[in-house]
Formats: sequence, structure tokens, C-alpha cells
Amino acid sequence: MEMAVSMHSSVPLQRAVEIYDEADIVVVGGGPAGTAAAISGARCGKKVVLLEHSGQLGGMGTLGNVSVFMGVGNVTGIYREMVSEVLPDYLPQSHEGSIWPQYSPFELRHYLNTKLEREGVKVYYHTSFVAAAMEGDSVTGVIANTRQGLKAFLGRTVLDCTGDARVAQDAGVPIRTGRSEDGLTQPMTLMFMMQNTGKPVKPYLPEDCYYYETVDELPPRPPFVLGAQRQWNAPR
Ligand SMILES: Cc1cc2nc3c(=O)[nH]c(=O)nc-3n(C[C@H](O)[C@H](O)[C@H](O)COP(=O)(O)OP(=O)(O)OC[C@H]3O[C@@H](n4cnc5c(N)ncnc54)[C@H](O)[C@@H]3O)c2cc1C
Repeated sequence: MEMAVSMHSSVPLQRAVEIYDEADIVVVGGGPAGTAAAISGARCGKKVVLLEHSGQLGGMGTLGNVSVFMGVGNVTGIYREMVSEVLPDYLPQSHEGSIWPQYSPFELRHYLNTKLEREGVKVYYHTSFVAAAMEGDSVTGVIANTRQGLKAFLGRTVLDCTGDARVAQDAGVPIRTGRSEDGLTQPMTLMFMMQNTGKPVKPYLPEDCYYYETVDELPPRPPFVLGAQRQWNAPR
């Protein structure tokens, strides 16, 4: 069957989208930049919502398995606070030295989840920026794709922490990427994990993480989960 070839290079899209939430600050992207910005905003007494495309915080630091913070001196601000809470052994005595804290991406994402909850930041996971809502030249919010379809999140301030300047691009801000002569960016680092190395395996869970030795220890669940529990217990 022959495919019909469109004569157009774009299609118009115009529709009304339900306003799902409103805040003083809408942060788009929950990587290192977005999480720190959200914490700062909340500490200024602002209502902050953070929209994250994936199901976890930390950006490349967790999603990309990056498991060492690149060496920086002058360890201050929220970065210092986080290191002191998760990796206190790495805290430098002075601002002169540079630190290279190694961490587990699994622990970091759990820590960030609980940290932002404690700070009062409302995080929407699986919520991907689609378009900037504009009034004239001003960004007044964003349209995002959620598990319930397109929704609008309005904010007095919108912070673009997508790592790709997605909001800025959509709002018409001129951007450039890579080095000026050819646009190339830094080559990627390869991160990997190994299993079955012949050494004994030890469970590696964050301290305050739920942990159940047996199925009987599981908390009461809705019937469909109990069904799965019965199946689990059934002789195999
Ligand atoms: C392969 C690689 C290796 C690296 N190695 C190291 C290292 O060893 N040590 C080190 O310190 N640094 C390393 N870096 C750099 C470091 O990861 C970045 O500097 C840092 O992650 C940038 O933080 P960010 O918050 O700006 O962006 P990101 O970490 O990219 O976070 C962006 C966040 O925005 C979300 N997002 C993107 N688009 C949307 C959207 N449309 N809607 C909603 N959310 C969206 C993403 O899911 C992500 O959570 C590495 C980077 C890469 C790519």
C-alpha cells in the first residue's frame, strides 16, 4: 500500500488545556539544577512544583548512572548540604581542596525523593514539558504531558532545568549548543554495573528504605495485590 505524502511540513495545533496546578515557581526538570532550585524556592516561602519527565530525581546523576560528583572546590550551598547528609566523609575542611564524592545512584534518588518531600516541594513525576504557555513575551506556565494527558501548570516564575533548554527554546529564546566552531559537545562517559563477579553479594539498600524478609511481613494491600500474594505463596 502506498503511503500518502503530505505536502505540508507542519500541522497546526490549538486546544484548551486544563489547569492542573498553580505555583509561585514551576521548575521543569529534576536534575541537580532543578532539585537545588526547587529547594531554594521552597526555603524562600514560595509554593514550588517540580515537573520531572522520568520517575526519579537526580537527572544524569541518577538516570545516567553517573556515580561520582565531578571534582569541585569551594563546596558550598545546597551541594555542600547534600554531601553532608549523604556522603559526610567527603566534606572538605577548607574551600581550597576539590572533592570527588562517589555515590550510589540508587541511594541518591531515594535521598532526593525524601529531601524534596521534606522541603515541601510538590513533585510531579512522568510529567514532560511540551510547550510554554505565553502571554506576550512572558512565560506564564507550561503545558506538560502527564499520565492523564496534557495539563497546564501555571507559575509566576518558570525555571528551565531540563538540561536542554527545552522551555527556553519553545519560548523563542535563541540558544546554541556545543563549541562555537562545530557545535560538538563533550564525548560521553560510559557507566556500567557488574553482577555475578564471583564475590558474595550483599543487599544494598538505603537505611530507611522499606525492607521485607518474607511475604508475610508485607503490609496489608488491596485485593488485587493479595491475589498476587496468594499466587506467590502457592506451591510451585
Ligand atoms: C554521560 C555523562 C557523564 C557525566 N559524568 C559526570 C561525572 O562523572 N561527574 C559529574 O559531576 N558530572 C558528570 N556529568 C555532568 C552532569 O551529569 C551534569 O552536569 C548535570 O547532570 C547537569 O544537571 P542538570 O540538572 O542541568 O541536567 P540533567 O542532569 O540533564 O537533568 C535534567 C532533568 O530534566 C528532565 N527533563 C528533560 N527534559 C524534560 C522535559 N521535557 N520535561 C520534564 N523534565 C525533563 C530530565 O529527565 C532530567 O531529570 C556527566 C554527564 C553525562 C551526560
